[in-house]
Amino acid sequence: MQAEEKKADHQVIIALNRNLQDKVAEIELLQQTFTTISSELDLDRVFDIVVERACKLISAETLLIPLLDENCHTYTYRAGAGKYADEIIGESLPLDAGVCGWVWKHKKPWWKGVLNDLAENERNRWEKEVGSMVMVPLQGKKHFLGGIVGFNKLGGNDFDEKDLNLLQLFASIVSIAIENALVVKRIEVSHHLNENYRKRLEILNRQLVESSQELEFLSLYDSVTDLPNRSLFHDRLSQNLTRAKIAHQKIALLLIDLNSFKEINDVLGHDRGDLLLNKIARRFETIIQHNETLARLGGDEFVVILPDYNISTAVKLATRFTALLEKSFIIDNNEIIVSASIGLSIYPEHGVTISNLLSHADFAMYQAKDNHDSVAVYQAKSDYQARTRLTMVADIRKAMEEHEFELYYQPKCSLKTNEIVSAEALGRWHSGHHGMVQPAIFIDLMEQNKLIDAYTYWAIETALVQAKIWKQYYQVVQIAVNISPKTLLDSHFISQLKKIIQSKQDGELLCFEITENLFLSEFDRLASVLEQVRALGITLSIDDYGTGYSSLSRLRRLPVSELKIDQSFVSEMEKNQDDKVIVHSTIELAHNLGLNVVAEGVDTPEAYELLKNLGCDMVQGFYLGKPVPAKVFNQLLSLN
Ligand code: C2E
Ligand code: MG
Ligand code: MG
Repeated sequence: MQAEEKKADHQVIIALNRNLQDKVAEIELLQQTFTTISSELDLDRVFDIVVERACKLISAETLLIPLLDENCHTYTYRAGAGKYADEIIGESLPLDAGVCGWVWKHKKPWWKGVLNDLAENERNRWEKEVGSMVMVPLQGKKHFLGGIVGFNKLGGNDFDEKDLNLLQLFASIVSIAIENALVVKRIEVSHHLNENYRKRLEILNRQLVESSQELEFLSLYDSVTDLPNRSLFHDRLSQNLTRAKIAHQKIALLLIDLNSFKEINDVLGHDRGDLLLNKIARRFETIIQHNETLARLGGDEFVVILPDYNISTAVKLATRFTALLEKSFIIDNNEIIVSASIGLSIYPEHGVTISNLLSHADFAMYQAKDNHDSVAVYQAKSDYQARTRLTMVADIRKAMEEHEFELYYQPKCSLKTNEIVSAEALGRWHSGHHGMVQPAIFIDLMEQNKLIDAYTYWAIETALVQAKIWKQYYQVVQIAVNISPKTLLDSHFISQLKKIIQSKQDGELLCFEITENLFLSEFDRLASVLEQVRALGITLSIDDYGTGYSSLSRLRRLPVSELKIDQSFVSEMEKNQDDKVIVHSTIELAHNLGLNVVAEGVDTPEAYELLKNLGCDMVQGFYLGKPVPAKVFNQLLSLN
């Protein structure tokens, strides 16, 4: 008996000992957990420690940490260990569902001891398995955080009160650490967000600066050439003027206008035209100093501000600009030759305001164009003449009503027979007020003031009447009438013409001379108009050939039969070998295309002989006869 009692005592002692050892181990684990976790701020590390230790502490098969989400309506399994934990982590559930909701609602742990507190239906639901789960709340300093849940006690038993107490104690130790780590995480996230916002803001700011620079660039620079635009030019000139006034210095203004750029644009297309402008700008830039401004005013106009320049230094520089264009430009394998006319005005001689200086440079530029010079300096005298030209418009109107216009006739002679075969009708105006006015002046004004159509119909009618008279007395003499491009492209042109030309016989008495430049711009429309003109029996001639850019083969597609080589080539032909080559090759090419060739501006016997040798068909010029009134022309015809 004694031995049995001893044995029983011994067993109790062993059990107590084991219990004690367990307790020591549990306390050690709790202590270790506390020390490790209290200095840990990384949330993932905290979770790892908590799940691993808690799992061990209550010998759970699975351990999970559900935490309340920020929306307070759901919770998410944030960490876990053991069986199936990996599959459950990250899962979110509504708060009012399941045990977690219950724990949150009652702020009490869940274990099998809660069965009595449950409503009957819940009790029935949970009765069998309540022991396989224990959940203790994780309570932060202010808020409920979530809980620690253990599932299925290893060894097959239920979780008991001891497990519950241990887990509660454990939860109270770790909850603060979890809460702190959560806060740190949140700070980190928001710091990260802030950092992102900051970076985004920086980018936005940079973009803003860039686009405002871009806007500034767009508003001050020209997008085609990247040169200062009109408004920056105004700004710079106004600053330069202020400085020049104080320093008693001069400023030169160069207005550079490209010649026939419209035609180049029409042929190349606008994109290529822009590219050409850009290339020209790059060339011009090479001779510009840092205190000078090269700007694009628009279209084909450039302007240069030259502080401290006088007329002679500015003319020298202007010549350098024109020289820069001598070398051709290559665009899409096409060789393009560009020339420019430059007008020059000087502060203070030619003006003291921006608008004065600019309009005077502009006027000089037109003078350069009119005189076929590359550079012209503003001259107040010519400006005065130009102004009188303006007052002329009213006088032209009156002169038309009062039939002051007259046609002069200049012979067009055959080089083979030496006889007059036709005449060119050239307009003349003996004005009571202006004296004898050349057509270059009044035709231009008529074109600008919509008077040209009426004048042209009058000229055609007058020439036809004259041709009919000459037909009666002499061999047939055809009369060539110059037709302004504006009239030719007028929508009423053909119908008006049909009112004048009653029959094909009438039409055959006339030839229309059309300037070459027109052929480029409106080719298709022109082709259709010319076909209709040709159908009336009228012959068509290309005037001033060589001054434009049209190719002969293109012109040949139009119903033209005559080509007039511009007098600028003919008059220089004897001295200038290049011009002679041009005249010669034009004659050959035109003949190959079946065109009759007329040389204009023949005013010497040498030119006449030379053209004869070159195989030209017809000649016109002062050597053979100046333009004269019809009465005088009659005499020429009777001598013919
Ligand atoms: P265009 O049609 O090329 O006419 C030839 C011009 O050259 C005429 O000038 C004529 O006088 C001039 N000329 C002829 N032979 C010689 C010569 O040997 N040496 C020199 N230096 N000049 C010569 P004009 O009469 O002053 O006419 C100038 C331009 O005005 C004409 O050039 C033509 O384009 C235009 N024009 C004249 N009359 C009319 C008209 O009734 N209607 C239209 N639309 N234009 C006209
Ligand atoms: Mg002509
Ligand atoms: Mg001509």
